[in-house]
Amino acid sequence: MSANLILVVEDNKDNLRLILDLLESMSYPTLVATDGEQAVKLAGEANPALILLDLSLPTMDGWTAARLIKEQHAPKTIPIIALTAHAMFGDKEKALAAGCDDYVSKPINFRELAGKLKQYLATPPESETP
Ligand code: MN
Repeated sequence: MSANLILVVEDNKDNLRLILDLLESMSYPTLVATDGEQAVKLAGEANPALILLDLSLPTMDGWTAARLIKEQHAPKTIPIIALTAHAMFGDKEKALAAGCDDYVSKPINFRELAGKLKQYLATPPESETP
């Protein structure tokens, strides 16, 4: 398993495609979940290095999923970056309160997201030795 595995949780196909294109261009290996329950399950099974988490999801919302994932992995912590369509201050606060470490507002600014990935993942993929 790769040290830089990113779990992408997004139920919107167009958003998912854009995010995966960006991560692929940065050489990050990815795993995809399209609902909240699947996100919690995969986070437990695959032990990703970071999670990009849409908040508005089927079966279980992102806030609940974030809380469960953090509980599941405690005391170790997997950084969770919330992807929020809600520009309102309260939603971002709610994401942080649920255990998300950071957030990126939609529509996603790729430069911003790329910067945050580099901030939270210790080793950029480019510097990994084969
Ligand atoms: Mn969604």
